[in-house]
Amino acid sequence: LTPDPLKQNENIRCLTTLSHFGFECLPTQLVNRSIHKGFSFNILCVGETGLGKTTLINTLFNTNLKENKSSHFYSKVGLKVKTYELQERNIPLKLTVVKTVGYGDQINKEASYQPVIDYLDAQFEAYLQEELKIKRSLIDYHDSRIHVCLYFIAPTGHSLKSLDLLTMKSIDRKVNIIPLIAKADALSKSDLQTFKSNIMSELITNGIQLYQFSTDDDEATAQVNTGLLPFAVVGSMEEVKVGKRMVRGRHYPWGVLQVENENHCDFVKLRDLLLCTNMEDLKEQTHNQHYECYRSNRLQKLGFTDVGPDNQPVSFQEMYEAKRKEFHDQCQREEEELKQTFMQRVKEKEATFKDAEKELQDKFEHLKRIQQEEILKLEEERRKLEEEIIDFYKTKAASETSQTQACTNVKKE
Ligand code: GDP
Repeated sequence: LTPDPLKQNENIRCLTTLSHFGFECLPTQLVNRSIHKGFSFNILCVGETGLGKTTLINTLFNTNLKENKSSHFYSKVGLKVKTYELQERNIPLKLTVVKTVGYGDQINKEASYQPVIDYLDAQFEAYLQEELKIKRSLIDYHDSRIHVCLYFIAPTGHSLKSLDLLTMKSIDRKVNIIPLIAKADALSKSDLQTFKSNIMSELITNGIQLYQFSTDDDEATAQVNTGLLPFAVVGSMEEVKVGKRMVRGRHYPWGVLQVENENHCDFVKLRDLLLCTNMEDLKEQTHNQHYECYRSNRLQKLGFTDVGPDNQPVSFQEMYEAKRKEFHDQCQREEEELKQTFMQRVKEKEATFKDAEKELQDKFEHLKRIQQEEILKLEEERRKLEEEIIDFYKTKAASETSQTQACTNVKKE
């Protein structure tokens, strides 16, 4: 008799422990393990050249991830991938930053976002291949799947460009998108608010799915933060003096914009959400939502399914056997076809060789006949010449005899 799981649950009793068992330390174990293993985080920055991608990443991690100046003259879009080892207190973080190069600088806009899609898919594929291995090492595997895509929007103050919509639409099922208004210091406070709501309504109208901030930890914060999208950010590595303090900001003739001042821009909110509150959620969403979607599509394309044609569940073993048989049959069919083609080719070649041989033989016979006729002709000519020579000598001898006769007759007289 198999026990009914529902009944079993009903039978579970909750007990309050009267003494110390030790499993209250489980979270500590997890923390220690995670610290020992280290953390990794992969960010993709998509945006036009010069929108401040490098500066923002440097500002986020308060470090100078040295970069060459980007150029507007690339013939196609590329992706620059760099991995850095960072440490905050005793917490190590392996940070991978992927940035678009030459994005939006070409006339063909489709070619601008295709490399981004290909890159995202390639990382999912690499992970899937590792997962499917018999001897897999997912523990020390460097997971390069992108956890968040920071999409940099130009501070035009009007609306999104068609390239922005096209790109976001084509990657929103593959990655967590957080839209940012880059160089937000270019817009006044009221213009910024209008621009933000214009962008959001355009994104909603076009059905673009953005990252939904997790509401687990602090529901109120999550709601406030979701309302902040897109984040208006300003980046700077410059240290500026404000009163007696040195702060990171941008110095203008009319004053100082403090990057870390929440009244000036949304940089701190973005940093908190990205690094303090939502990093794990971004990673989970990547694995549970985007990767799962890629994986199931990919496996379906390979012919795997969870239910058979009769809507009955199919076990992996059955599917494997069926696929194996199908593959085996296909191999046999192809082998047979190859054999047939090979035999046909051999026959054709044999016929060609036979024709060529016959042609050669005919040519040889013909030449032989000509040669024999030539020999006969020459023989005939030789025979005629020999007869002529004999006749000549005969005539010569006769004339000599008649001359000698004539001389003798003259002397006698
Ligand atoms: P990338 O090509 O997108 O990586 O852009 P960079 O980070 O190299 O920045 C290009 C230029 O824009 C540099 O001169 C930066 O100093 C400047 N810049 C970066 N962020 C900001 C910003 O938030 N506001 C303003 N006004 N300028 C910025």
